[in-house]
Amino acid sequence: MNTSKKTISIVVPAYNEEEGLREFHRRTSAVLDGMPMTGEIVYVNDGSTDSTWEVMKDIHTEDSRTVIVDLSRNYGKEVALTAGLDYAQGDLVVPIDADLQDPPELIPDLVNKWREGYNVVYARRISRDGETWVKKITARAFYRLMQGIGGKVNIPSNVGDFRLIDRKALNALKQLREQHRFMKGLFALIGFRQVALDYHRDPRFAGRTKWNYWKLWNFSLEGVTSFTIAPLKISTYVGLLTAVFAFIYGLHIFTKALLFGDPVPGFPSLMVMIALLGGIQLTVLGIIGEYLGRVFNETKNRPLYFVQDIISDTEKKSLE
Ligand code: UDP
Ligand code: MG
Repeated sequence: MNTSKKTISIVVPAYNEEEGLREFHRRTSAVLDGMPMTGEIVYVNDGSTDSTWEVMKDIHTEDSRTVIVDLSRNYGKEVALTAGLDYAQGDLVVPIDADLQDPPELIPDLVNKWREGYNVVYARRISRDGETWVKKITARAFYRLMQGIGGKVNIPSNVGDFRLIDRKALNALKQLREQHRFMKGLFALIGFRQVALDYHRDPRFAGRTKWNYWKLWNFSLEGVTSFTIAPLKISTYVGLLTAVFAFIYGLHIFTKALLFGDPVPGFPSLMVMIALLGGIQLTVLGIIGEYLGRVFNETKNRPLYFVQDIISDTEKKSLE
């Protein structure tokens, strides 16, 4: 197969990565130099508050293979990555983090694997150096849960956004314009021939991760609610079970009152029942609310992002 005419795009979302971006570019461009195909690196500045955009402009003056995109504000990694994927021109596209946690040196291996006839080659972490055990355990629990309730869409565990996707898969992915973008899920949803490649995940090169547990919790919620309505179904059964229980308990109280009269005790059990039912109802309402909120967000059908600036040598685009 002649693959030397294929082009590759490396897509890098970056938010406040001024410290590590040059080192990232040095390593990634070195990888690109050593590959038998031409390529570009698409940097997306996700509304950084530090000098990331200036660093990107410097990098662009030094290396014309780069395309730099400046988003109008911080949109979050998922949207920044989507923007990068939209502007990528290559036949093969590799989303990668700017913090060097995904080793760019792995890209040629991803390409080799792709040559075997796959559409998507995802990099699977076999170690999580530099991450706390709490994060490791919560990550594992999350993947377990997703595997259990994800249904037909099998979201592989220990896989980030670092992967290689070919045009065919990318075109499919680009059609998924939902606001709530759980990328791992979307990558899995499109299907095609997918295969894993194992690698060691390094600690961040510089700066700090923007994740905290509250964000991780919300991320998991996003994953669950955008891929399954299982919580809604579970709510139905919890409701049904409670109703059956209430009916039986009601019969019990009724016969007891018939047989022994009703001397009005039972305040504690009354309070327990009220609290229990109130709790269940509010929880179920909350679950419905989570879905309703997402329906609300999707119906507005807003564009996913706005672009402040694009600098590219191949295609002079200016967006006013
Ligand atoms: N990122 C982004 N927008 C954000 C947060 C992060 O574009 O709002 C980028 C960040 O610069 C990095 C990648 O997404 O290139 C992964 O972020 P991070 O390292 O914080 O996440 P983790 O590796 O802990 O999953
Ligand atoms: Mg990281």
